Order: sequence, then structure tokens, then C-alpha cells
Amino acid sequence: MRDPEVLVIGGGATGVGVARDLALRGVRATVVDRDGLCSGASGRSHGLLHSGARYAESDPEGAAECLAEARVLKRIAGACIADTGGLFVSLSGDDASYFEEKRTACRSVGIPVETLSPPEAREIVPELPTEVEHAMQVPDGVVYPSRLIAANAIDASAHGAEIRPHAPVESIEVRNGAVTQVRLGGTAETTVSPEFVVNAAGAWAGRVAELAGLSVEMAPTRGVMVSVEYDGLGPVLNRCRRPDDGDIVIPHPSEAVLGTTSVPVADPDDYETADWEIDVSIEECAKLLPPVAEAPILRSWWGLRPLYAPEETARGGRGISRGFVRLDHADDDVENMVSIVGGKLTTYRRMAEATVDLVCDRIGCAAACSTADRPLLGADDPARLDETIAAFDGQGPTDADIVGNV
Ligand SMILES: Cc1cc2nc3c(=O)[nH]c(=O)nc-3n(C[C@H](O)[C@H](O)[C@H](O)COP(=O)(O)OP(=O)(O)OC[C@H]3O[C@@H](n4cnc5c(N)ncnc54)[C@H](O)[C@@H]3O)c2cc1C
Repeated sequence: MRDPEVLVIGGGATGVGVARDLALRGVRATVVDRDGLCSGASGRSHGLLHSGARYAESDPEGAAECLAEARVLKRIAGACIADTGGLFVSLSGDDASYFEEKRTACRSVGIPVETLSPPEAREIVPELPTEVEHAMQVPDGVVYPSRLIAANAIDASAHGAEIRPHAPVESIEVRNGAVTQVRLGGTAETTVSPEFVVNAAGAWAGRVAELAGLSVEMAPTRGVMVSVEYDGLGPVLNRCRRPDDGDIVIPHPSEAVLGTTSVPVADPDDYETADWEIDVSIEECAKLLPPVAEAPILRSWWGLRPLYAPEETARGGRGISRGFVRLDHADDDVENMVSIVGGKLTTYRRMAEATVDLVCDRIGCAAACSTADRPLLGADDPARLDETIAAFDGQGPTDADIVGNV
């Protein structure tokens, strides 16, 4: 394995997005994952391409970022996404003033919303319950993460990046204030001496940082998704209430993906997966779409949100920012390493851009980011995406029904 200019640790959306961005700027990058690509949160997420509406009132800046990035992905990501639109629905008993608050907040962020009467909402989703009191349309969508990461991998490789799944980082040597060597195990079994290191290891970013003697305080939370048989749900369904368990239903061609929960996790490699989370997700989502209560369960899985919360660990998951944080470890006396944590699948490209801007500044690369303007290579070719997913062992559970089936 060659010595890269930049070693990217973590083959989720963020890491592979960083590799694509670096490659397009002419920087020689290698991305490694300890497992297959997409094996972390990215391949185990709910798969909502956020319009920003979910966060409009609580985090307008994050919402605007989602809106902008969802628009970019609709332009560049072809068959990696589905532009389904979304509905926010409040039911009798839900706080009506919250519906109003969200609608106003969406408008002030610039998210286009259209208010619908309950009968109009039922024209779009006939099986909505009779308890619907308010509804609005928002430009949410669906993202297929295995495909999205594969398209980023195709583009990155085509521009010179090396992609190495099953190559865990085992140790990082720091001398005189800089990373000098990184030991890779698994199928790589080698030591590399990169000029710069990007830590994009998601919920494991704290563990990777520790290898370099650094502290990155992660506060991951787990969430469950349950996929059930359901034909023909058009838009994403969101319950219009303050974020809680079981308030989003994601449409797939013959499934509905229900979720989710948020439970703090101490050890990202050893955490409980509790049946109550499955039960509560089905029960709550059935309030939005009653037939899912009795629908056959096809699969369920958990993912870990890579939340960064240095001083908020004790407060539990939902209050912690979903925004991303770029940690320049030059501030901790390791001059050639950056960690990129938090954020969302929807904003992975922006996270990569912010990271690569810093790296390029340090290694003396003047090229500008072009990832928002160039279609992802292969994104319109499902067969090529499927082959790439297989080649990099990149199949996550979120879109297991999509890959190989279209
Ligand atoms: C339950 C849940 C639902 C979510 N729903 C949504 C949603 O609907 N929409 C949305 O936009 N976002 C959603 N998210 C958030 C989103 O999934 C994540 O923010 C995003 O995928 C993080 O990507 P990442 O690449 O930073 O991390 P990850 O995808 O976790 O990638 C990190 C990678 O690092 C690797 N790694 C760890 N240690 C090492 C090592 N020592 N050496 C090499 N590699 C290593 C891991 O194997 C992993 O593949 C959800 C998250 C969860 C958990």
C-alpha cells in the first residue's frame, strides 16, 4: 500500500466524502475502514434526506444547512436518493401551537411549505388516520446510504483515491507534535506515513483520537429502525411534535421504515439493543400510519449517532446538537490531524468540504472544492453502484431492499 498524502480514517459517508473531495482537488488520499464501507451509522441510519424542517425551530442554522445540502444531493446524487417529498402531520391531542411554530420557522429558514387540509393530506396518503388535524408538505426525501457511499467511492477512486475496507487503524504514532506513522491491521497489515490524518470515525472518533493521545468527547446515542411490509407510501411522514421516539416513517418501494429512538450508549462496540425500542417505534409510527401496526416485520437494526458533546454527556441524547464539529488538533499540539464529528448523513458533503478546506490549507493545496457542482460518478447507474457496494463490502441494512433489486 502506498503512502498517502492524506489518510482518512472511517469509510462512512463523511470519510468517503472527504476522500472524494481530496481526490477532486488533486490530493492523494487513502480511506480505510475497520469493517466494510458504510458499516457505521451511515449504513444504519433512517435514510431521511432532511429538508431541514425537522430542525427549523430548534436549530435554524442546521436546518438551512440541510436544505442547501438536500438540494445539492437532488442535483448530483441520481439513484442514490428518491425525491419523495414529505408531510408533517399533527394529530388530535398534539400541540397545535407547535405546528404553527414549525411552519413559521420553516418559512423563515426558506424551506418551502404548503399547508394542507386533512382531506388534502389523505389524498396524498389515503391511510392517514382520521385524527389528522393539521398537515403541511415539505421537500424531504429519501437517501439510500450504501449507494451514496458507493458513488462517492467510485468518484474518489476514479480521481486517484485508494479505498481500503477491512483495514482498521490499530495505532497512531505522534512525535514532536505530529503524527508520523499509522499502523493498519486487517487486510492491510502495514504502516503508513501520511502528511495529514483525518479522523472521520463517527461514534468511534474518540477511540481513534485516543490512539494519538487526543481527547474527542463523543456521546453516541443508539436508535432502532424497523422495516415493515407496506406498498406505495409516497412521501416521508413526520409527526409534527417535538422530536420523540417513533415519529418518522420513510417510504421505500414496498416497505416503510419506522423509527426511531435515542438512548445514550457508553461503549460503541458493546451496547444493549432492547425490544421495547422496536415496540415503541411500531406503536408510535402506527399513530401516523395505522396499517403498520399489523404489517409483517421484515428487518430491524440499530445505529449509533456520532454525537459530540464535551460538556453535555449527562443530558441524554436528544438535547445534543446534531450539527457537525471540526476539531483542528493543531490546537492540541498535534499539527497534522483533524477530527470531523457530529452532523448528519444529509450534510456529509458539507462536512467533507469543511474538513478538506482545512487540510488543503495545511498541506498547501490551492484547489477549490467542486463536489457540489459535479454529479457523483456512477450515481445514475444502479448496476455499477451494486457492483461497487459488493466490491467494498458496503451493504448496510437501511437500503438492503433497494440494492440489487431495481
Ligand atoms: C438511528 C439513526 C438514525 C439516523 N437517521 C438519519 C437520517 O434519517 N438522516 C440523516 O441525515 N442522518 C441520520 N442519522 C445520522 C447519520 O447516520 C450520521 O450522522 C452519519 O451517517 C455519520 O457518518 P460518518 O461517516 O461520520 O460516521 P459512520 O458512518 O459511523 O462512519 C464511521 C466509520 O469509522 C469506522 N471506524 C471506526 N473505528 C475505526 C478504526 N479504528 N479504523 C478504521 N475505521 C474505523 C467505522 O467502522 C465506521 O464505518 C441517523 C443516525 C442514527 C444512528
